[in-house]
Amino acid sequence: MSEETRATKRNQDSEEHLLPYKQILLATDFSAHARRAGQRAREMADKYQARLSLVHVFDDFILYDDFYEPVVEERFALQQSLQDAAEQQLATLADELGIENTADVRLLVGSPKATIISHAKEHDIDLIVVGSHGRHGLERLLGSVASGIVNSAPCDVLTVRL
Ligand code: AMP
Repeated sequence: MSEETRATKRNQDSEEHLLPYKQILLATDFSAHARRAGQRAREMADKYQARLSLVHVFDDFILYDDFYEPVVEERFALQQSLQDAAEQQLATLADELGIENTADVRLLVGSPKATIISHAKEHDIDLIVVGSHGRHGLERLLGSVASGIVNSAPCDVLTVRL
């Protein structure tokens, strides 16, 4: 067998053993990196004919931190208007990505890393797509949410760079 035939056979064998992704989850913080991740997630979903879902986690840590005692009164109203804004951005992004089913678009509340991981487990996600970085600078190889997800995900993770 020639080297070329062997290489072709190797490629065929490895493709046969790769199961296609069925449930792809895009986690977005609406940053430029996450926007790029959205384009990749759409491409991957089209390639594998997978279901694409979208999640944003509203991190309420700052609102409920005791350091900010003076804003305690206002925090519920503030949380509501921030969540409304997030809902709107999610709806716009879902539209851009062609995600029509509202059940596939979720605004969740909590710590982003832990919430994304448990959402992925509950929904049998087999690929999580995130930006390599988000809103908190570029100084590290991966942002803290991205690296937390890579370390604890129950499935493959694609980190997308700009
Ligand atoms: P970071 O690790 O914070 O630099 O963000 C890296 C990527 O993680 C972003 O580009 C998003 O894809 C995702 N991400 C960060 N924060 C959130 C969040 N609150 N909700 C959903 N995805 C997030």
